[in-house]
Amino acid sequence: MKSNLSIKLSLIVLIILVTVGLLTGVTSFIISSLYPDGEYSFVQTISVIGASVLAGWLLAIVISNIVLKPLNNLILATKNIMNGDFSCKVPVTWQNKYSFDEINQLISSFNDMSDELARNELFRNDFISNFSHEFKTPLVSIRGFAQQLYDGDLTPEQQKEFSKIILEEATYLSKLSTDILLLTSLENKNIVTEKTLVSLDEQLRTCMLMLEPYWEAKNLDIDMNLDEISIYQNESLLAHIWKNLIDNAVKFTPDNGSVRVSCRAEKDKIVVSVSDSGIGIEKDKIPYIFDKFYQGDKSHATKGNGLGLALVKRIVDLCEGTIRVLSTAGEGSEFIVELPFNE
Ligand code: ADP
Repeated sequence: MKSNLSIKLSLIVLIILVTVGLLTGVTSFIISSLYPDGEYSFVQTISVIGASVLAGWLLAIVISNIVLKPLNNLILATKNIMNGDFSCKVPVTWQNKYSFDEINQLISSFNDMSDELARNELFRNDFISNFSHEFKTPLVSIRGFAQQLYDGDLTPEQQKEFSKIILEEATYLSKLSTDILLLTSLENKNIVTEKTLVSLDEQLRTCMLMLEPYWEAKNLDIDMNLDEISIYQNESLLAHIWKNLIDNAVKFTPDNGSVRVSCRAEKDKIVVSVSDSGIGIEKDKIPYIFDKFYQGDKSHATKGNGLGLALVKRIVDLCEGTIRVLSTAGEGSEFIVELPFNE
């Protein structure tokens, strides 16, 4: 049977009233037995009433302390959370055993909420420190080279070299801001809008062509095995997925390696695979590759900001699809994306 807070509160008030009544009755009985002829004074009557009220009051304090103590703890914890202490929890004490189920449920939900807030806070702080780091490093580099250019006294080759670095760092910063803005906007979305009929095979071919200078420079063997498929999706979001996956495949594959892309339709979904014969990913690193700012190579020797796969994952989630990776360090990786056919 469901417990009812108001019934329980009424019961407590009733218990206190009955106890006060009983105490008054018992004390009157004792006094009337001591003075059978009714010769007790006005002061004695007041004392009886006073003692009963005092006893009732003490009882009320004890009961409310036991029953309502968890509620007080909850109020204190709420104030702490309001002041920004997200690690604050409502302690579960012996009083909780005698308190109302409703209050205990409220406390349990409150503690879950404070856990979630603490996690979000940690995540936010992590995000800000990663973001600041990613932004600061190229800015310091730009400043240093710009200063040298400004000071003059450089050979034409040095001038060209420094300007090239400044240009590259500026391009990196611009991509970083674009990716962050896109990721933030996607995190605030729940559904995909602006869907059109997209030719998937054509889109994959275009993405591969866009990266031609990179795979040609590495002399990679490119293989595309594409079924003719059209899918009703947001064209630019889909392109982000393929661009990032193919870009990574090319980036993480040494010279003379190979990159393969395939797409096929299954009953109610499309399956796209992007595989390479590159450096692969160590088993213990795989769970982190979709995290924001995660980069396998901490030295940043490979150009990237660690947001590519986080974006891919967010887009795939929004499209209600799945992404998985099969990889062996030193042998290569395969990313498999499955998206439902949407109407
Ligand atoms: P990045 O900007 O570093 O490419 P991503 O989010 O795209 O960031 O990828 C995160 C990390 O996952 C990469 O730094 C790399 O360690 C690993 N990774 C992604 N794709 C591949 C791949 N095809 N081969 C090997 N490692 C990969």
